[in-house]
Amino acid sequence: MGEYEGKCPRCGKIHYSKRKGDRVVCDCWLYCPICGEEMTPYTPDLTPNTYGLDGKRDMTILRVCARHSPPFFSTQKPVEIVCT
Ligand SMILES: [Zn+2]
Ligand SMILES: [Zn+2]
Repeated sequence: MGEYEGKCPRCGKIHYSKRKGDRVVCDCWLYCPICGEEMTPYTPDLTPNTYGLDGKRDMTILRVCARHSPPFFSTQKPVEIVCT
């Protein structure tokens, strides 16, 4: 298995990689921090220029967990971990 590892600062999960400096995206941002269920993608009002002219998509990623009242909205972005 991987020789290098990186720890997610959010959930503490350890990710492994064979290559040093490899970047791994932790999937913990998909899950509700309150109940641990997978959240539903939630798209706020999109404006046409959300998609930048340079082709870079820099939109806010939101997910919602409707199991709570009021629903829990997450602005958590994918956590990128560098394996060292
Ligand atoms: Zn994580
Ligand atoms: Zn929840």
